[in-house]
Amino acid sequence: MYTLTNPATGELVEEIENSTDDEVRDAIERVHRGYAGWRRRTVEERARVVARAAELFAERSDELAEIMTLEMGKRINEGRGEVGVVVDIFNYYAENGPALLADEPLQLASGPAVIVKQPIGALLGVMPWNFPCYQVARFVAPNLVLGNTILLKHASICPRSAAAIERILHDAGVPEDAYVNIYASSRQVPAILADPRIQGVSLTGSEPAGISVATEAGKHLKKTVLELGGSDPLIVLDTDDLDATVKATATARMRNCGQSCNAPKRMIVLGELYDDFVDRMSKHVADFYQPGDPADPATKLPPLASTSAADEVAGQIEKAIRQGATLRAGGHRIERPGAYLEATVLTDVTPEMDAYYEEIFGPVVTVFRAEDEQEAIDLANDSPFGLGASVWGTDPERLRRVAEQLEAGMVYLNRAGGSVADLPFGGIKRSGIGRELGAAGIEEFMNRKAIRL
Ligand code: NAP
Repeated sequence: MYTLTNPATGELVEEIENSTDDEVRDAIERVHRGYAGWRRRTVEERARVVARAAELFAERSDELAEIMTLEMGKRINEGRGEVGVVVDIFNYYAENGPALLADEPLQLASGPAVIVKQPIGALLGVMPWNFPCYQVARFVAPNLVLGNTILLKHASICPRSAAAIERILHDAGVPEDAYVNIYASSRQVPAILADPRIQGVSLTGSEPAGISVATEAGKHLKKTVLELGGSDPLIVLDTDDLDATVKATATARMRNCGQSCNAPKRMIVLGELYDDFVDRMSKHVADFYQPGDPADPATKLPPLASTSAADEVAGQIEKAIRQGATLRAGGHRIERPGAYLEATVLTDVTPEMDAYYEEIFGPVVTVFRAEDEQEAIDLANDSPFGLGASVWGTDPERLRRVAEQLEAGMVYLNRAGGSVADLPFGGIKRSGIGRELGAAGIEEFMNRKAIRL
């Protein structure tokens, strides 16, 4: 069942039955047949359709932001910001697609050859609720320009985002059989992956979902891209403005109510700054992040996406405290309807505690102390995840030196989190396999066909 519950009130808004197995099979046949026609169009034609999609996303930004606020409690302005990034992504692939897909001549020792860049067929996308439009855009825009077709299973709490995105793409001129939304359950995913008409799968979501999808895809030798969880470190080496650093790093952590895969979830502060940083962060978080209606642009702390998400994070905090962590701010569910949780600061989290290695997907800042640069790097790398990382300080050479030693797919200097269309996004270790966005993002489901001339 796809269930839309307003996380700001707890009110059930809509329920949609799952697609039946027959409907799923029909959808597979559609994207399979759709591929034959879509791939035959020129790259320029497909890029024009994708450019038109960018225009429609921009025109419907308010509508999409309102849907996301209703479905998963995103602050309305953040929703508009998310759609802005979606527009950038569609424009990026529309503008750069033809050059990225141009033939690559090679001069071999034995004579000339050429790499031609071709699509591979119908793909499955499995997407999460935390950025309902952006996650889909990262997968869909490059693959449509390349010529692949898409079957999309969105998160079961985001049925309206799923439908609105499909409408935009069809209105932009993507053929009805080149992009098909299905309300499939995760239990139907293995059968989709087993179907020979599906050539690959991209999943953005949690580690367990990634393992399950990769296992099923592996059984059928299907290419997989996985964009999974993270527990990104943020290292503060030094600062000439501690208040500004505290505010900027808190903003990055609290974006999307702390539910961003590449938010700075573990802040590692060098010894001499640590006490001041923790005091100011605790005060700032407690004062600034007051709960409110996510539809009100003035709200600083919206609900989490669901009561189960809020309960889960509250449970992680409680367990960390039971295991010996120190609570510096917040820490509790807020007594009002909906999925609200106080903005929280934890310290003294040690490797013996579950919170040390887990991803905490909510408005929780965890601060660690490191005596020197090397200890900060070691702490940062002591994680099963390797998505993003960030380093803050005043000496560019030192920032770069530290960045190069971090086990992460992306490192940001004096900034944290976020994503831009032209920079590859993805992680190492348990954060996933493959890249989205930038030039790398169009290559994942590409046949780089080598032709010896
Ligand atoms: P999730 O529970 O894994 O769900 C993601 C998607 O996978 C949903 O469509 C879900 O369907 C589906 N799914 C769940 N279990 C499945 C299974 N066994 N087989 C097939 N499909 C399955 O993740 P989430 O809670 O929505 O998202 C939060 C997680 O995503 C966090 O860990 C976050 O860090 C990660 N994330 C990573 C990135 C990145 O780029 N690396 C970006 C955003 C989020 P249902 O909704 O029907 O269960």
